[in-house]
Amino acid sequence: MAIEILDVGAEQADYLHDESRREGHADQIAFPRTTEEVCEALRMAAENGWPVTVQGGRTGITGGCVPEGGLILNLSRMAAFGQIAGDRLTVQPGATLAEIRNATEGSGRFFPSDLTETSATIGGMVANNASGARSFKYGAVRNWVHALEVVLPHGEPVRLERGVHRACGNVFNLGSVSGNLCAHLRKCAQVKNAAGYFMEPDMDLVDLFIGAEGTLGVVTEIEIMLLPKPGQMNGLTAFFDAEERALEFVRFLRGAGRLPRPVAIEFFDSRALALLRKMRAEHPAFGDLPALAPEFDTALYFEFDCEVPDAVAEEIDRRAIDCWLSEGEKEIGILKNFRHAIPESVNLIIGERKRAIPGLTKLGTDMAVPDDRLEAVMRMYHEGLAQAGLEYVIFGHIGNNHVHVNILPRSLAEHDRGQALYLDWAKQVVAWNGSVSAEHGIGKNKTAFLALMYGAEGVAGMRAIKRLFDPAGRLNPGNLFGNGN
Ligand SMILES: Cc1cc2nc3c(=O)[nH]c(=O)nc-3n(C[C@H](O)[C@H](O)[C@H](O)COP(=O)(O)OP(=O)(O)OC[C@H]3O[C@@H](n4cnc5c(N)ncnc54)[C@H](O)[C@@H]3O)c2cc1C
Repeated sequence: MAIEILDVGAEQADYLHDESRREGHADQIAFPRTTEEVCEALRMAAENGWPVTVQGGRTGITGGCVPEGGLILNLSRMAAFGQIAGDRLTVQPGATLAEIRNATEGSGRFFPSDLTETSATIGGMVANNASGARSFKYGAVRNWVHALEVVLPHGEPVRLERGVHRACGNVFNLGSVSGNLCAHLRKCAQVKNAAGYFMEPDMDLVDLFIGAEGTLGVVTEIEIMLLPKPGQMNGLTAFFDAEERALEFVRFLRGAGRLPRPVAIEFFDSRALALLRKMRAEHPAFGDLPALAPEFDTALYFEFDCEVPDAVAEEIDRRAIDCWLSEGEKEIGILKNFRHAIPESVNLIIGERKRAIPGLTKLGTDMAVPDDRLEAVMRMYHEGLAQAGLEYVIFGHIGNNHVHVNILPRSLAEHDRGQALYLDWAKQVVAWNGSVSAEHGIGKNKTAFLALMYGAEGVAGMRAIKRLFDPAGRLNPGNLFGNGN
């Protein structure tokens, strides 16, 4: 059956933006349900010279799935599941993280990736090499993908299996595409990284597509790996009277080598806690959030997949002013809502401000630095923001030295000041051998950062790969390299 291609009208307005609130435009939209339909749509696009933008759950925050004309290929209806086979599960790309959790429930196994946003699709997660709180123990999505089916931009499907389809040195052959990988990419091995293509000699070719932000092909099937479910989970939220003491506690949790490693270590600065108090008081939708005492300045959430070690309990008594314990997935889930409420609140506030000043956007950082730079990076953020007089909150994956600074500009002048500050920070983070994007990707909004991180030579190496797969630059135009793919 031929795939249905619809004209984009007012009723498709939702498909023209993602959670970054970047607005795009498109002529047509298709909702394929099978790999064959994706192949057909891509062949039609090739024949007609249409640009194609791939979409999953549109929860991205860098504009990656926001179209710039042409055809939208929305994969949200391509969401079927295979059977769990041992420690593997095959899924179509439109399955959401929440659906994957449901599908594995009761199997004794679980999928270790745990983004805060559970309506993200597995295709979007693979395309962005996404991660989450538990990446402190389990790493990014890349670690949990065994095989992919990908449709190349001209409509050719290929299957890639870890350990089977590999480059030979820097040379690779994949379906009708062959060429050389870029051998001299800057590495930042000590930090989480989701910026640009992953390339190294003898690599598994599946890794070229993970984190490629849909610029090299459309992911149409994913074989994910599952782990045995731990017998118990304990989540602790410890509150401190100063940020300094919370950072010392992070060092204790990470450095105590003889203790079990926490699964996650998450951070909430004083402004994030203040925002939660305010939203709880003013917005009915946030009324279920737990009350936060006024003396709580900073909070850490950390999780163990075993008993809480005695040494940790003692250290909490010594350093924290209060601590909540949540046992098991259900109670932990309630606390996750608490975490999710921060970016949701920020988006709500920006949405309201945008009505008066349409050009405003949230400025959200996503950078990670090596362990020895944790205090320095936090100092850099606070000092820069105080000097610029900007409104902000800081929260996120502090176990990996990867916090999100969310700047909430109140005017276009503040927006510009925030952007300039962000660029200065990115330069410093790169100088510290960090990453400009640890999990959200580059998309269309952060393309200037790719050159900052990899230099002109590194970007040229990535562009050369892009040209091998997509000489006309029609798939996800604007992503990674800006216009002029
Ligand atoms: C409140 C909130 C919390 C978040 N928390 C996290 C977090 O903890 N960790 C994290 O990593 N991210 C987080 N994100 C960001 C977002 O959820 C991730 O980037 C996610 O991976 C996007 O998935 P999606 O299905 O929504 O993809 P989309 O937004 O639809 O697309 C993202 C990119 O993937 C490409 N793409 C999508 N599907 C495919 C496919 N099948 N084949 C090829 N390319 C494809 C798109 O073209 C685009 O470039 C959060 C976002 C929000 C709004």
